Amino acid sequence: MLSPIAIETSAGLAALGLAAGGWAYAARWPGSQLFGKAMTAPLHPGELALTFDDGPNPAWTPRLLDMLSSNDIRATFFLVGRHAQAEPELVRRIVGDGHLIGNHSWSHPNLSLTAASRVEQELARTSEVLQQLAGVPVKYFRPPYGARRPVVFRLARSQGMVPVLWNAMTSDWREPSADRIAQRLKRSIDRLQQHGVAANIVLHDGSHRDQRADRGPSVAAAGQLVAEYKKTHRFVKLDTWA
Ligand SMILES: [Zn+2]
Repeated sequence: MLSPIAIETSAGLAALGLAAGGWAYAARWPGSQLFGKAMTAPLHPGELALTFDDGPNPAWTPRLLDMLSSNDIRATFFLVGRHAQAEPELVRRIVGDGHLIGNHSWSHPNLSLTAASRVEQELARTSEVLQQLAGVPVKYFRPPYGARRPVVFRLARSQGMVPVLWNAMTSDWREPSADRIAQRLKRSIDRLQQHGVAANIVLHDGSHRDQRADRGPSVAAAGQLVAEYKKTHRFVKLDTWA
């Protein structure tokens, strides 16, 4: 059986592979069945969505927010419900800084292996906490590991959320070199750009396993991407593509 990390990696590669060969399908989002009716990225070359999963994290998220603010860039944060509950002020700051927040489940289980009733609870409990903190309904959901089955997306939609995947990811959560993380993502971004597709980029500002995990490389890589593309590309939140 695949470990959760292997699932996350292979799902990322699969999404990238689909992106590299499936423009026509991606263009038909949200009607496309290819991604199980999930948002990836539209045919908007020149647009980049930075998305951050598994936070909020008291050590790393504030540094990321500082970097984004100083560059006047808005991003999307897929928050783990139990981390959000533990860091309410940080969630308020993310929203207050103008970023979009999404639901990344309560405890980060592999939802393709989770009973539907529990999936429903994982999503509902998270949205409830986020909505209380943010004051607005939660409209986007990213499944942990990208793992899903049709019922997971159906439940997310029934709770008013658009399922979201990605098309640019590397193993930033276990890569100690910010340079390598940024280089790999730049290759993906530039390849998507050549094919006329926007980039929906995943990085991790927290960890579902251990909140003490070092996310310095991911935060630094985000800074490198901003520096690289700030003058030539537009950084957008995912609701720009809705
Ligand atoms: Zn995650």
